[in-house]
Amino acid sequence: MVNMYYDADITTDKIAGKKITILGCGSQGHAHSRNLQESGADVVVGLRKGSSSWGKAEKAGLTVKEVDEACAWGDIIVVLLPDTVQKRVYEASIAPNLNAGDSLVFAHGFNIRYGLITPPEDVDVWMVAPKSPGHRVRTTYTEGFGVPALIAVEQNPTGDAKNLALEYAKLIGSGRAGILETSFTEETETDLFGEQAVLCGGCEELVKTGFEVLVEAGYEPEIAYFECLHELKLIVDLMYEGGIAAMNYSVSHTAEYGGYVSGPRVITPETKENMKAILTDIQDGTFAKNFVSEMEENGGKNLDRIRGEYEEHTLEKVGEKLRSMMKIDKTGSGDDCFNASNDA
Ligand code: NAD
Ligand code: MG
Repeated sequence: MVNMYYDADITTDKIAGKKITILGCGSQGHAHSRNLQESGADVVVGLRKGSSSWGKAEKAGLTVKEVDEACAWGDIIVVLLPDTVQKRVYEASIAPNLNAGDSLVFAHGFNIRYGLITPPEDVDVWMVAPKSPGHRVRTTYTEGFGVPALIAVEQNPTGDAKNLALEYAKLIGSGRAGILETSFTEETETDLFGEQAVLCGGCEELVKTGFEVLVEAGYEPEIAYFECLHELKLIVDLMYEGGIAAMNYSVSHTAEYGGYVSGPRVITPETKENMKAILTDIQDGTFAKNFVSEMEENGGKNLDRIRGEYEEHTLEKVGEKLRSMMKIDKTGSGDDCFNASNDA
């Protein structure tokens, strides 16, 4: 069983007086920096000159400096850049500014787990990984709550790394929801597996394929969209609140029985073998190697091409039209906070 920490368990004050540099102001960066600042921390955001986030961050009351200057200023450097960019920025701007006793911090263990970044031994290396998209880190905080987070310690020469991680997690609001301790390896491998097999990859293919089967059988795309995509959120909300049994308690006996008999025809023993092969690619570094080479050597061209193909899918076209015609509960969609994800 892993330990769970809450606000009341986090009493020490190691982070007070430390200067926190947040590199990047995208999905996670904008949320961490604003939450930290509003919780009383001393924060500077590091951005490239001309970044489209610069003005938005300043408008939100944040202090912005160029990356090198921000790294020189901070005692705690938090790397909230895209995973494939981190090594370059580390070598150019972070490493030259790391002093003994500083902290190097991540929200995902990718660069440490796969050896892309090797920090000096006299620097604390820890992680605070919110288990949610960045905009939820922000909106839940503004609502007086937070999202659960994982913490992990990779290097601890000062002896304070775990306390610093817990305090940081508390300052971004996660101590209100619950903080769990893990390792860089466990976080990286389970995070990649979860998003590939279940949350992003598995889920989008399930939705898309179900939609295709209905439309190819002659049903109206709008009806297929509701069945295969729109209602998914309502079902997942029930699972989120009470697990699978609670979901089945709320749906009809017809849906429950149909689910039990047909679910295993969709997710077969072969699917499980495929999931195991995905996990192996993650564990042995195959996925990381391919992803870094796609982004750094191929300029993300395949990613752009596949994204374009998915955007052209009838499911997306129908969905766009339907959503513009309907009143949809957008709670938690992040419309009210700036999120400079994927800016130039
Ligand atoms: P993002 O793409 O939303 O934002 C990245 C930011 O970095 C942007 O502000 C961008 O302008 C900036 N940037 C890009 N290249 C740069 C460069 N060369 N120099 C300076 N700035 C540069 O990224 P994100 O999704 O917030 O991910 C950041 C980290 O958080 C990653 O390690 C990711 O795995 C982790 N994480 C993300 C989420 C999420 O919800 N998106 C959840 C958990 C963990
Ligand atoms: Mg993730």
